[in-house]
Amino acid sequence: MHAIEVAQHGGPDVLVPVERPDPSPGPGELLVRTDAIGVNFIDTYFRTGLYGTELPYIPGSEGTGTVVAVGEGVRDTAVGDRVSWCEAPGSYAELVRVREQVAVPVPDSVPAEQAASVLLQGMTAHYLLESVYPAQPGETVLVHAGAGGVGLILTQLAVAKGVRVITTVSSDEKEALSREAGAAEVLRYSDDLAEKVRELTGGEGVAAAYDGVGAATFEASLASVRVRGTIALFGAASGPVPPFDLQRLNPAGSLFVTRPTLVHYTRDREELLWRAGDVLAALADGSLKLRVGASYPLAEAARAHADLEGRRTTGSIVLIP
Ligand code: NDP
Repeated sequence: MHAIEVAQHGGPDVLVPVERPDPSPGPGELLVRTDAIGVNFIDTYFRTGLYGTELPYIPGSEGTGTVVAVGEGVRDTAVGDRVSWCEAPGSYAELVRVREQVAVPVPDSVPAEQAASVLLQGMTAHYLLESVYPAQPGETVLVHAGAGGVGLILTQLAVAKGVRVITTVSSDEKEALSREAGAAEVLRYSDDLAEKVRELTGGEGVAAAYDGVGAATFEASLASVRVRGTIALFGAASGPVPPFDLQRLNPAGSLFVTRPTLVHYTRDREELLWRAGDVLAALADGSLKLRVGASYPLAEAARAHADLEGRRTTGSIVLIP
């Protein structure tokens, strides 16, 4: 099969197209022929070595495709079924071993590019909004990188709940996309970002800041939330936040800071299917519009990473095998 391999950590050019033997499904696993593969920012953390992994490895965790074989003990999935997933290491490949436990049936009406890229970012937006800080109708929240994969989905889901959303973006094109997703106010990253957020909230600050940008925005997030507000630091697109003195949370307003990750919010099959079901239902009824901003041939995974890290992408991006 064709796949992408990383033999050493580094920049996008360590993503190298390779030929590998076709894998076989182990017990409880499906073997899926991919139709499209989701590219996520976390894939860059593994590639650079920010997150640990053994070398060499096939990157990626998300995709969609058709089941071509099933391993021992697989009960509810059959050859020919269409599934998506976002927890299968080695997804940048034509054939992927997916644990049945993490495979989600996807209706035929969802195009492959969307089916490949909606789960990881969609369920992240879902758990941030439903479980980390369940924003209430009428409250205002701050969403950084409002035109990114998670940002566009999070904004739409929040607005659908009656939440007012302020976003940050880096360009006019991204501002237009963020407004289309429902953002009431769109700001640029700047030194006086928190002051602007306070002006837009009558001096009070936002109920929560959902921050996937990290190093560049964390201080502004802290200064933007109201008394007893929450900062959900869920990523590090601009780099990891340096060590932080917890005492600062006290004078800043008895704040809550959390560093959540999807796997802890999809702890069992029931929770996974709840979040995936809500996201797919929103897609099906049109209340969620998924923007696939770019698709690349699998062999050009390096270009996809360079564009993602270079802030040249909007919405989700996919690889086509
Ligand atoms: P995005 O599509 O949002 O891409 C990242 C965006 O971050 C860029 O487009 C850019 O938007 C913004 N950004 C700001 N500063 C930088 C910088 N210095 N370098 C690069 N980008 C920057 O990616 P995803 O939707 O895949 O992920 C968004 C974040 O969410 C990531 O941090 C990711 O790790 C995190 N995440 C966390 C999960 C979790 O469970 N904890 C799960 C899924 C994602 P702009 O140009 O407008 O600033």
